[in-house]
Amino acid sequence: MRETPVLLWLRRDFRFHDNAAMAAAATSGGPVIPVFIHDAQVEALGAAAKWRLGLAIESFARALEEKGSRLVLRQGKPLTVLRALIEETGAGAVHWSRLYDKPGRDRDTEVKSALKADGIEVESHPGHLLFEPWTVETGQGEPYKVYSPYWRAVKGREIAPEIGTVSELRAPSSWPISEKLGDWSMGAAMRRGAAVVAEHVHVGEKTARARLSAFLRDHIGHYKSERDFPASGATSGLSENLTYGEISPRTIWHAGYRHMEEGAQGAEHFLKELVWREFAWHLFYHWPDMASRNWREEWNGFDWRPDNSDAEAWRRGMTGEPFVDAAMREMYVTGTMHNRARMIVASYLTKHLMTDWRVGLRWFEECLTDWDPASNAMGWQWVAGPGPDAAPYFRVFNPATQAEKFDPDQRYRRDFIAEGRARPTKTALSYFDAVPESWALSPNAPYPDPIVDLKDGRERALEAYQRHKG
Ligand code: FAD
Repeated sequence: MRETPVLLWLRRDFRFHDNAAMAAAATSGGPVIPVFIHDAQVEALGAAAKWRLGLAIESFARALEEKGSRLVLRQGKPLTVLRALIEETGAGAVHWSRLYDKPGRDRDTEVKSALKADGIEVESHPGHLLFEPWTVETGQGEPYKVYSPYWRAVKGREIAPEIGTVSELRAPSSWPISEKLGDWSMGAAMRRGAAVVAEHVHVGEKTARARLSAFLRDHIGHYKSERDFPASGATSGLSENLTYGEISPRTIWHAGYRHMEEGAQGAEHFLKELVWREFAWHLFYHWPDMASRNWREEWNGFDWRPDNSDAEAWRRGMTGEPFVDAAMREMYVTGTMHNRARMIVASYLTKHLMTDWRVGLRWFEECLTDWDPASNAMGWQWVAGPGPDAAPYFRVFNPATQAEKFDPDQRYRRDFIAEGRARPTKTALSYFDAVPESWALSPNAPYPDPIVDLKDGRERALEAYQRHKG
């Protein structure tokens, strides 16, 4: 039996099922040392994403212990940390699951070539996506810029079966020292919010799989017709688990596919949504500055307002536009926001308030527990106008008519807005427990008047667009 230990560098793949990197480490036969490294990229995460990552680590460390293994925690530059662990343990190989953002890729490339030069076996594995971004291209060998042809290109592809659950990881004879998760203060920036959002997160692989089963049992049949209604609970909620790799996209794909074959209405639509995530990563891989630059250069010089007091009212869920405020508060209370609501608040900020989409992108990055750099960047650029395959700028969502259509019984607004109600809901009240005390918000204060008239805001945005187009 091989005695040289293997390091398993976990980053966003906290699962035993369908985890190629873990399976490769396990089948090597040597003792496996799972490690998580708190590096500069972890440090740079937004408040909610960092806190939620801490929960993922905590939960996975427990799951490893149940299998007689451990998760070694270290802080520092990954190459330095891995070299130190190799020195301490005599490890001869390192495995990890690939990530596709530019800083992550640059880091991993450097680590891989340096360790290989040291004589260490290094292998990176797929698993965070269904289709690696460089494997999908147009007939001309170009990346796709429009979703529908991308979908047509991938929908018939053979997707390999899932890799079975790793049931055992051989423990080393002695474990390297681990830092303590508590010392990392992953939730420090959440302040009062952590206790509130904690009631709404769904952490860990078991929870993710149970969530998928419940969605397939109760909702996939009417997914297409109900997915746009924020109070319906008709979507899977799996974005949070996908972000941390607590479930693989392949597990979701195959489960959805089986339902489609069995004739479940809505299953194909669900698979198409899952492929929007793939498309986002395809774009983000080929245009890595999509979170900071207009994808269409002709948008440079557009008259966006920089951050401003209206944007601050937007962040605080105090615009006086109930659907917008409900959505912003949903994000603050639960750590996520319904997709339709994301589109509406993004349109309101970038059009009615004429504010630069990057202001909104950064706030989502700070508040979302399902923060995904590719989907967030694509979503903001899509709604604002400069993105590939974007909604045209003149398509301005009217939050009042959207509310009538997608929240006809006001359930969503009641769920998240307390002011002016005799018996506010628990979630609506919990918003006031989560926000910084310095905001001085009270459920007993009157609900604010609209900061912008919807018709005036729309006209101002369209005039700016006309001016810009010349
Ligand atoms: P379901 O409806 O159950 O869909 C299943 C899965 O498909 C999702 O979990 C997700 O992985 C994928 N998916 C669905 N819709 C989209 C979409 N429009 N774009 C990309 N993938 C999609 N999603 C994130 O995961 N993280 C983000 O940071 C993020 N930011 C966004 C910002 C804006 C402005 C917009 C408009 C959308 C953003 N999205 C983001 C996409 C989408 O809103 C969420 O993926 C979705 O709301 C997650 O809910 P769900 O898991 O219940 O989705």
